[in-house]
Amino acid sequence: MTLARDEAELEDLGGGLFAYVQGDGSWGLSNAGLVTDGEESLLIDTLFDVPRTRRMLDAMARATPAARKINTVVNTHANGDHCFGNELVADARIIASTASAEEMQEVTPDLMAAMLKGADEMGEAGRFLRKAFGAFEFEGIKLTLPTETFDKRLDLRVGDHAVELIEVGPAHTRGDVIIHVPGSRAVFTGDILFIEGTPIMWAGPVANWIDACEKIVALEPDVIVPGHGPLTDVRGTLAVRDYLVYIRDEARKRYDAGLSAREAALDIRLGDYSAWCDSERIAVNVMTLYRVRRYVAAAGRVGNV
Ligand SMILES: [Zn+2]
Repeated sequence: MTLARDEAELEDLGGGLFAYVQGDGSWGLSNAGLVTDGEESLLIDTLFDVPRTRRMLDAMARATPAARKINTVVNTHANGDHCFGNELVADARIIASTASAEEMQEVTPDLMAAMLKGADEMGEAGRFLRKAFGAFEFEGIKLTLPTETFDKRLDLRVGDHAVELIEVGPAHTRGDVIIHVPGSRAVFTGDILFIEGTPIMWAGPVANWIDACEKIVALEPDVIVPGHGPLTDVRGTLAVRDYLVYIRDEARKRYDAGLSAREAALDIRLGDYSAWCDSERIAVNVMTLYRVRRYVAAAGRVGNV
């Protein structure tokens, strides 16, 4: 079921696990997760602004006493809709991949606030910014960075739960991490999965992202919490993989035929994928595919990137 834009829901996944799902998963409407056991709690991602993060933390605290004090936070990646609320959990141990922690210092809340302020003078781009991000409050957010970083893999315990942080980026961003809770057969994927919405590839290479989808499937999870959109399963994961394979192949044909990235983005038929929200993200995706391909061509390497 898809929620309306301004709705949010805390879903009890059982075994002390929860998912917080926001709206239709469009721009900035991200999901978060919670793993608890006894007094211990691990929050997976904060939200795009302080009021939204506060509402989420209140809902979690009502659902389970373990969430009244969050011990540990994992930011799955550097996009603000997964970490701008960190100031409300500043007492916790905050973990991210090294690459994500670095990237978080680039597109800061202050920069988002300044861009929105200047949106009126930015023509079409400004109108888009207002539509996508106008509902969020970036002004005054205190950038709160991770206190701890890791590369590749970090194993944690939350009470009796074993929790595996697995770095699968660069893909959507430079340092994407998925969180696997094997005892509950659950995976929190961050923005490696957009469900019923179009994935957006800021970093690439696409091969890493396709591999990440296959890694999720190989974990044989029963419950998958995507970064955006409703809870999903292996089928939803494969749909994202198939989209990525499709746009990779379609962009490649047009690259080889000498089309520009813009021409290619306009030319690619999205078919059933056009029913996913934010299908205009094909423009960013093709740009990233072209950028990586040019880089590979210049370096004289080959492969499905
Ligand atoms: Zn996101």
